Amino acid sequence: MSLPEVLSGIRAAEAQAGRAPGSARLVAVTKGQTLEAIDRCVLSHGTFPLGEGRAQELRDKAAARPDLEWHYLGALQRNKVKYLRPAALVHSLEAVWQAQAIAQAAQGWGRAPAVLLQVHNGEAQKHGIEVELLPGVLREVQATGLSVRGLMVMAPDLDGHPARDERLLALFQDTARRAHDLGLSELSMGMSGDYPLAVHAGATLVRVGRSLFS
Ligand SMILES: *Cc1c(COP(=O)(O)O)cnc(C)c1O
Repeated sequence: MSLPEVLSGIRAAEAQAGRAPGSARLVAVTKGQTLEAIDRCVLSHGTFPLGEGRAQELRDKAAARPDLEWHYLGALQRNKVKYLRPAALVHSLEAVWQAQAIAQAAQGWGRAPAVLLQVHNGEAQKHGIEVELLPGVLREVQATGLSVRGLMVMAPDLDGHPARDERLLALFQDTARRAHDLGLSELSMGMSGDYPLAVHAGATLVRVGRSLFS
């Protein structure tokens, strides 16, 4: 696969779902990739937001390429918040204390990243906000002054599972419904293995890594 193939997969899924072309944006997940590989496999095809999953790696790459739009989508530890300064969007907020720490650090930065709330995916997985807690967490995060743009979900790995596609689609559709009910417009869902289903369910940001670089 390559970036043009992923983009045509996204466009095909948009069309199939009756969505406007370009309504699902590709976020190129570049964690573990060198700047040289990013230039060759991503930026030679156009300009895309780049998603990093480790805070120091984000800091280092963004320092080298401040012209690019950087997103953060990894786990957030308190002592790593200081590295998020270059992030335009944090996809992986899952606790109110994280929002408070980012909002506080952002006072020194002079600007704050927008955030998405990561939703628990219902499987045995430790990350994400339990769905019944979402409205309360949303209010508390908004109270920090951060701009909450939407929800993010990571699908569980159901490879080889019967009814995999139906289950993933149901998860994505459920997440889309929750975002709508909360008045949030951005939906970060879909990775290399499942992005057509996510686009079908309304993803506005699709986080693809491996498929761009293989
Ligand atoms: C690594 C990662 C991705 C990209 O996954 P691929 O399978 O490489 O496409 C997307 N989202 C998050 C949160 C990730 O950590």
